[in-house]
Amino acid sequence: MEVVGFQRGLDYLLERGVNIGVLTTDRSPSIRKLMKDNYSNIQQELDPWHVCKSLKKRLVTASNKKENKILQPWIRSITNHMYWSCSTSKGDKEECQRRWKSLLYHIRGIHRWEEEDAEHRCYHPPPTEEEQRRKMWLETDSPAFQALTGLVMDKNLLRDLRQMTLFKHTGSLEVYHSVILKYAEKRLHFSYDSMRARSQLAILDHNNNLERPQATTQDGQARYKAAYSKQSQQWVAKPIYEGTTQTFRDDLVERVLRRREDSSVVLSKPVPRPRPRRRLLHNIAPVPRPEKSDLVAKARSRYMTML
Ligand SMILES: [Zn+2]
Repeated sequence: MEVVGFQRGLDYLLERGVNIGVLTTDRSPSIRKLMKDNYSNIQQELDPWHVCKSLKKRLVTASNKKENKILQPWIRSITNHMYWSCSTSKGDKEECQRRWKSLLYHIRGIHRWEEEDAEHRCYHPPPTEEEQRRKMWLETDSPAFQALTGLVMDKNLLRDLRQMTLFKHTGSLEVYHSVILKYAEKRLHFSYDSMRARSQLAILDHNNNLERPQATTQDGQARYKAAYSKQSQQWVAKPIYEGTTQTFRDDLVERVLRRREDSSVVLSKPVPRPRPRRRLLHNIAPVPRPEKSDLVAKARSRYMTML
């Protein structure tokens, strides 16, 4: 169903002449296949967050093995390095791969090396002697380094990285998903027309509230809140944005009224009467509920037997 919905939505936009150059998705294999087979002129990018999440999981699993414990303190640096490789390669796929793979040198304390007859070096400033001595570098022949090499050079991951060089995110889609809950609650059933209207309202709401500026204090300082990030397992400062506005509703009502007063507009089809909402059942029991007093008596007798 996801693939069908995706294809219909994409075709709808293309038929209406929307020029789509890049499209960002998660790693769904069926969507990837569809993009490759039917929309090869559109560049498909992957959201680094989804890729990073699965890499982190694999790193944690590997580092839980006794012989790989030394990987544990490196996990956050490794995932950060992935974000950095994508966000700084500006669409250059080869550069992104080079940056990512440089991790395998840096983590052994090597910051300058030769590869394919060219000298390469890390992008950070050279470490001080003290830093070089204190850091827990990995040994080339250690099981931890071998395990890490397997993960870093994994051919599926390297393929994913080629689709992450524009550093595009699907975050605003997740925001939209929370906006639509306000208009179409999940526990209720809506008719097709109603669902369509509710989605349209959610889209208007979402689009009208995109890119809100960060809120400021009275003396003009940007506002933040402290939040615990489950992903990075640490406290982080998150920006607080200006509140949403719902003024689009006033515009909408005004335009509906104006159209209603316009005598040149004739309704060609009768307006469908809304069908009554179907509410969910109060419980999922397949048999009718007995009298409560009977249930209480039964519970009491069970209690007495236990005594
Ligand atoms: Zn380095």
